[in-house]
Amino acid sequence: MKDQITLNRIQLMHPKLRAEVLEMYNQICLALTGKAICRFSYTLRTYKEQDDLYALGRTKPGKIVTHARGGQSYHNFGLAFDIVLLIDEKGTGKFNKASWQTNVDFDGDGIHDWFEVVRICKLYGWEWGGDWKFSDKPHFQKTLGHSVVKLAALVKAGRVDAKTKTYPKV
Ligand SMILES: [Zn+2]
Repeated sequence: MKDQITLNRIQLMHPKLRAEVLEMYNQICLALTGKAICRFSYTLRTYKEQDDLYALGRTKPGKIVTHARGGQSYHNFGLAFDIVLLIDEKGTGKFNKASWQTNVDFDGDGIHDWFEVVRICKLYGWEWGGDWKFSDKPHFQKTLGHSVVKLAALVKAGRVDAKTKTYPKV
């Protein structure tokens, strides 16, 4: 089943990747056939939103959730997304419980649902945060060969797409 919120958030991704991510998300939806669906909890984050997140656990109460400030995350350029599984706990067709469990086979096909998503994204050449030393299992990104420093410099220099003035020209 497709999640409308995710479809909307995919439209916020870098224009170069939108069609690919949509296709990838369709594959994910076809693969998860049980009581879990996949939602993209974050795609694009503005610099301001990133700075607010960075403040958590530092200048604001809460747990530290990111090591990146505004302009230091691929999310800021529409080149990353985070996932969460939504569970239909009571079997009523309402997928309303968020789950970050990576080791549950909700659809009973022998593969943990989280890793079904990972496998599909990797097929499309996306990098998974779960492979990093400081593991970030919900996170996926496609750098298109550019560092965040380079991308931030492009944005600062006004080298952005003409329509939205948001995404770096890459
Ligand atoms: Zn992320």
